[in-house]
Formats: sequence, C-alpha cells, structure tokens
Amino acid sequence: MCPQIEQTLKDVFGFASFRPQQREIIEDLLAGRDAFVLMPTGGGKSLCYQLPALHRPGVAIVVSPLISLMKDQVDALKAQGIKAACYNSALEAQEARQVLARLHGGELDLLYVAPERLMSEDFLGRLRELQIALFAIDEAHCVSQWGHDFRPEYIQLGRLRQKFPGIPLIALTATAEPHTRKDIIARLNLEKARCYLTSFDRPNIRYTVLEKKRPFNQLLDFLDGRREEAGIIYCLSRKRVEQLTAKLQEAGFAAASYHAGLSGEERSRVQEAFLRDDLPLIVATVAFGMGIDKSNIRYVVHHDVPKNIEGYYQETGRAGRDGLNSEALLLFGMGDVALARGLIDNSQNEERRRIENHKLAAMVGFAQATGCRRRVLLGYFGETLAADCGNCDTCLDPPEMVEVTEDARKALSCIYRVNQRFGLGHVVDVLRGSKNQRLLELGHHRLSTYGIGADRDKDYWQALLRHLIHLGYVEQDVGNFSVLKLHQSSRPLLRGEATLQMGRPRTKPAPTAEAGPTVAAGGKSGRAGKGPAGLAAADREIFEQLRRLRKEIADQD
Ligand code: ADP
Ligand code: MG
Repeated sequence: MCPQIEQTLKDVFGFASFRPQQREIIEDLLAGRDAFVLMPTGGGKSLCYQLPALHRPGVAIVVSPLISLMKDQVDALKAQGIKAACYNSALEAQEARQVLARLHGGELDLLYVAPERLMSEDFLGRLRELQIALFAIDEAHCVSQWGHDFRPEYIQLGRLRQKFPGIPLIALTATAEPHTRKDIIARLNLEKARCYLTSFDRPNIRYTVLEKKRPFNQLLDFLDGRREEAGIIYCLSRKRVEQLTAKLQEAGFAAASYHAGLSGEERSRVQEAFLRDDLPLIVATVAFGMGIDKSNIRYVVHHDVPKNIEGYYQETGRAGRDGLNSEALLLFGMGDVALARGLIDNSQNEERRRIENHKLAAMVGFAQATGCRRRVLLGYFGETLAADCGNCDTCLDPPEMVEVTEDARKALSCIYRVNQRFGLGHVVDVLRGSKNQRLLELGHHRLSTYGIGADRDKDYWQALLRHLIHLGYVEQDVGNFSVLKLHQSSRPLLRGEATLQMGRPRTKPAPTAEAGPTVAAGGKSGRAGKGPAGLAAADREIFEQLRRLRKEIADQD
C-alpha cells in the first residue's frame, strides 16, 4: 500500500523484509487506526511503532516501563540516525530541559517517556500544543493486575485514548494470556483497536522439566558439553544467584552474576561481555533479560520455579532467537513452590494474592503435565496446537502413568476425617500412621483413615496430594495456614465414579535420589509449637525456609 515503508525498512532499519504482521500493523497506524499487538519476545514489536513514527508528521510518544530499556532503545535508534530521546527521572535537570526544547522545536521523531511523566498535567499540556504522530505503549501488560509485571503508574494511561482522539494508539505486549489480554484492552480503552496475534510457538526450543533433586549435580550434567555455549540460569533470589555463580566458577565455568543489587557499571560490564560472546554463562534473577537482544542463546535454565507461566515463557523465549535448536530446562522443586506460595501469601492485597496463587498453580500444572509441554504452554496463551510437538521431554519420553484412583480416595477421605482443618503434612502423617506427638494428642490415631496409607512413602503421598491440589480436587486455603479442603469436584472421585492417574516424577539425569531439604526430617518429633494446628515437621521446615527467604528479600530492599 505504502511503497515508502519498504524503503525505510531497508534504508533506515537495514532489514530486507517485514516479519509476519509488521506491515499490516504499520499500515494501520499510518491510516490513523489503533492497534493491539501480541507478539512473542523477539518478534519485532518495536519496529511496529518506530517505522510509522518516521512516516507520520509530529513526534511519536513511546511509553516504556524501564529506564534502562528506554536508554537501550534510544541509543540503538540514534545509531541508526533517528532523532530519538528519553524523558524520565534519570535525566539531570539540564538534560531534561534540553529534551523538552527539542520536543517543542519539532526536532524529535520519537520520545520515550516514563508513564508517570507522560500523564502529569504539565506534560499533557505540552503535548496538546504539539503535533503527535502516535502513542505507543510498550510492555502494555504492565497496566493489568493480571499481568505478571503490574505497574500502578500504567493505570493512568487509560486516559490517553479519550484525551487525544484522532491520534493512533498502539499497545504492545508479549503476554497473551487471555484474561490479561482482555484486561489490557479494557484498561487502555482500546476496544476499537484491531488485534494482532502472532503465534507464540517456538518450535526450536525443547522444554524439559526435571524434579529438582541435588540441583547442582543436575546442572553439571546439563552443562556437560555446553561450556562454550551461551546460556542463562535464572534463580529466585540474589543470594542464590551469588551462591550458584561461586559454585560454577569453582567448577571451572566462566560464569558471572547479574541482579539488581549489583552496581550499574557491573551490570553493564556483564551484559556487554555476554552480548559480545566473551562470557558464555550468566546466572541471574529475573532482572536480567528484558530488552536484551542476543540471538545465539542456546539454553535457559530455571534453577528455581518461576512464579508464573508468563515470566517463564518470556525467559525461556530468550533462547534460540536465531531459530537454531535450543534448550529450556526447569528444575522443579516442591520446596520452591512452597516458598513462592509463602511469598505470595505475605503480600498485602487480597486480590493480588488470589491472582498470583492462580498463576503459580498454572505454573505447577505445567511442570507436572504429563502430556506435550508445548501444548500446555500455548494452551495457557489461548493457542491450540494441531499435534503434539514431538520435541519436548514428555513427547520424547512419555512419563510412566500410575493409577492412583484408590489412593486419591484414601487421601480425600483423610482430609474429610480431619475436618478439613489441617495442612498437607498432617494429612500425610495420618495416612501413614505416624506416631507424631501432636497427632496422638489430637486423637487422630483413632480416625478410620489412620494408617491406611502406610504402604506408601511420604514423598508419594505428598506428590499425590499436590496432584489433587493442582487438579482442583483439593483446595489449599492459603489464607489459613494452607489447610486442605475438599472441592466439590472431588465428589465423583470419592464416590468411585471417576478415575485418576499421575505421572511418576522424574529426576533424570540426576544420580541417586536424595531427599531434598524440604522433605527431610520425619514427623516423629513433630510438635505444633506456635505454628498452625498440626503443622508437621516437613511443613515447619518449609515455614522456616520461608521466614529466611522473606528476611533475605527484605534485606535486599
Ligand atoms: P520485541 O520487542 O518484540 O521483543 P524487538 O522489537 O526488540 O522485539 O526486535 C527483536 C529483534 O528483531 C531485533 O534485533 C530487531 O532488530 C529484529 N527485527 C525486527 N524486525 C525485523 C525485520 N523485519 N527483519 C529482521 N529483523 C528484525
Ligand atoms: Mg520490546
């Protein structure tokens, strides 16, 4: 339609052709229409507003959540000879004045602005006097409580659509989970915008989940033969990042840490070295990666379970942008899930807690999936795969399924018998006929379900109960010491009208199994102390870990 855009694509941006959807989106904006763009990380969202910014009169206003992201983008644009600048709190007063002068002088094609700056009355007043090419809201999921990276400053952006009628507005995100999608559109008042959804499938990434057991050995096994390849290992906390980097360096790996606790110089140094292929391995918190553009990352490992699928998919999506085969490995530990859950429960806002628990449950569901992983992932984003991918761990080596109907009934009855007032550890103790003091004091050794599961070990019952929780048969009342309750959907199972199977957990390629810290310490000496009623030793251990982790996180901030 517009022949010049091809020219600009080649001459200014140096690309031979458009990626899927880019042309349509650009033409929409040029025609003055709004657009809502869902494109996976690395799909090429920036071009969708950068190119039309050059073809429409006036300045394009781009909203971006992170100062570092803005700076990277503006530097890249300047290098291409495009007149771009940022306006945010990182500027000195003098610089800020210069930027505003250039803005009013009509000297800018693109201005990157932090949301709270943009929505200030002062700035909006300025914009009314100017010609504006378009508004672009990048990382638009930040406007949604459902998104994994909610930023209250984004809420105000909802007013933009009415305030500047007639100026095209484009919102872009890589988070396509359907709830979030609807919420973004509603909050930004983009009901009339055309939606562009590109597939989120990344067929060249192989997804593998291992039950976390002796994670350092699992890592060494995985890294064997990958020393030269570029990779990222994500950990939950800065402390874990530091510890793991130290261990890897000791084992002879060229690895460096990256997290928000390091100085700006150190972070730039590490990032630069990684981008230049001077440093193959980065151990990082989720602070690393947003906006980095490196095509030959061969693997992404999650050493700890991520809090939600959005984050996980975005992080794994950094692997294999060059289209070559790449690996995504998740070490999945139930202890980590308990930690994450505890952190969520610790957060103030009830609505937030509900949402985050829901997201964490979905993440766990993915990790415990026994079918094609890619199907589960894409299904979460509302996409359906025509066939199993044939490339993920479960496709290549389907997990052995065990029939657990009878045991599930035992577990459900046991929850019922303890009046739905006890946590997982206690229910397991009753099932296994533990002689733990607290249990005896409560008289639970007289229950009909006492000891009916003595033939199975603790790990088995824990896994089964978690399976029931994640399938929604059992609710874990997170607001109330994680007490287990029966959901009405469990009735058919209890009545023998439904059956249940469970995949056997895998720790391969880990060597001999060894109980992780969270399932150590039997229930024998269990005394409830100040904790919730009947908290078994295993659960108390988790609570202890939580307390430590909370402290660790509090210390960081
Ligand atoms: P996103 O914001 O969707 O994660 P970016 O806009 O950062 O993605 O683009 C990712 C990479 O793809 C960048 O290196 C960018 O230069 C490149 N890219 C974008 N569009 C094209 C295109 N049409 N042809 C080739 N490379 C492109
Ligand atoms: Mg982007």
